Amino acid sequence: MSVDDGAVFDSGGLDQLIGVLRSAGYRTIGPIVSDGAIVYGTVTGVNDLPVGWRDHQEPGRYRLEQVSDAHLFDWAVGPSTWKSEFFTAEETVWQASIADGQVTFSEPDDDTGPVAVIGARPCELSALAALDRVLQGGAHPDDRYAVRRSGTFVVAVECGAPAGTCFCSSMGTGPAARAGFDLALTELFDGGHRFQVQVGSAAGAGVLAQVPHRSAGDGDRVARQETLARAEARMGRRLDTDDLPDLLARNLDHPRWEEVAERCLSCGNCTLVCPTCFCSDVKDATDLAGTVERQRRWASCFDVEHSLLHGGPVRPTTASRYRQWLTHKLSTWWDQFGESGCVGCGRCITWCPVGIDLTEEAAAIRTSAGALGSVGSVGRRTS
Ligand code: SF4
Ligand code: SF4
Repeated sequence: MSVDDGAVFDSGGLDQLIGVLRSAGYRTIGPIVSDGAIVYGTVTGVNDLPVGWRDHQEPGRYRLEQVSDAHLFDWAVGPSTWKSEFFTAEETVWQASIADGQVTFSEPDDDTGPVAVIGARPCELSALAALDRVLQGGAHPDDRYAVRRSGTFVVAVECGAPAGTCFCSSMGTGPAARAGFDLALTELFDGGHRFQVQVGSAAGAGVLAQVPHRSAGDGDRVARQETLARAEARMGRRLDTDDLPDLLARNLDHPRWEEVAERCLSCGNCTLVCPTCFCSDVKDATDLAGTVERQRRWASCFDVEHSLLHGGPVRPTTASRYRQWLTHKLSTWWDQFGESGCVGCGRCITWCPVGIDLTEEAAAIRTSAGALGSVGSVGRRTS
């Protein structure tokens, strides 16, 4: 199925698309406004979407405003990630109880049916692909994640309004959607409010066939390219990725790690909002009735216990934990998975309470590394 096939529908068509997916049994999850932010929740139609809402994002700052237009996707990603849907922040893995001398184990049945993702941004498609590789493609697949991901229908929406903290174009993950979707929409305004639709799978073609639409014309294609070009030009940040994995690996003792540690609170917010962070921990809870529960919850490399080995944590300082976070995303993820662990969504910058910006930190090391030379290094695998 070519992803170049073009169709067009208006916001009524999008409403019908959501209805078709719901009729087919999907839980339709998409962007909604809640508690002053655009987050992901159940959407039953276009009226649940953030109609007329715009966001303003800078390091450590997020603000929404509502304007009087019908734009549905004129904002960038908020604190929610699709990770939360498929790899939940906290869950019971198994339970055991004892009765009449017999121990019985059970696993909670949490198959809540297939999800239709509405409005995933291109950087989020890349983040989901990264999670798939880790949680489904590795030596130890996560069965729960696999069940929740199976049968997912993805309606992507390309970016027309990147935030001040976005840098997806530097990471090659946006603003255009290239893969990982069933349907990809581009919201267009010039010449009337409408969506140009690309088909990315046979399932997408089947659903689109149930929604009234027309074929895309040259005017629609030009409008899409102009929208993407504007988004590219408005990208809030850039990250020079040239030789970045090796540059960081050569500078593990750079003084910048101590400097950033003077501001870093070690709160872990950046890891919680990151769509690719996948670390988790387990703990067992017991009650007086003899029931045991194993619970899994997200973990953060900013937790001291995260690096606890015999004798104590191997990353006892904030500087060592921040270095672990940044170098894993931008350097050693390449060794593990052959790609970057950062998709350039900017969430860790916006939601850092003190506005620490990994693009700024990486640039500072690049700028000063030339003057200082390599400052501490490890050998990196090259394959
Ligand atoms: S490291 Fe930051 S910018 Fe990169 S994917 Fe994670 S949250 Fe987004
Ligand atoms: S970089 Fe920011 S969000 Fe991350 S742990 Fe430090 S203070 Fe918290």
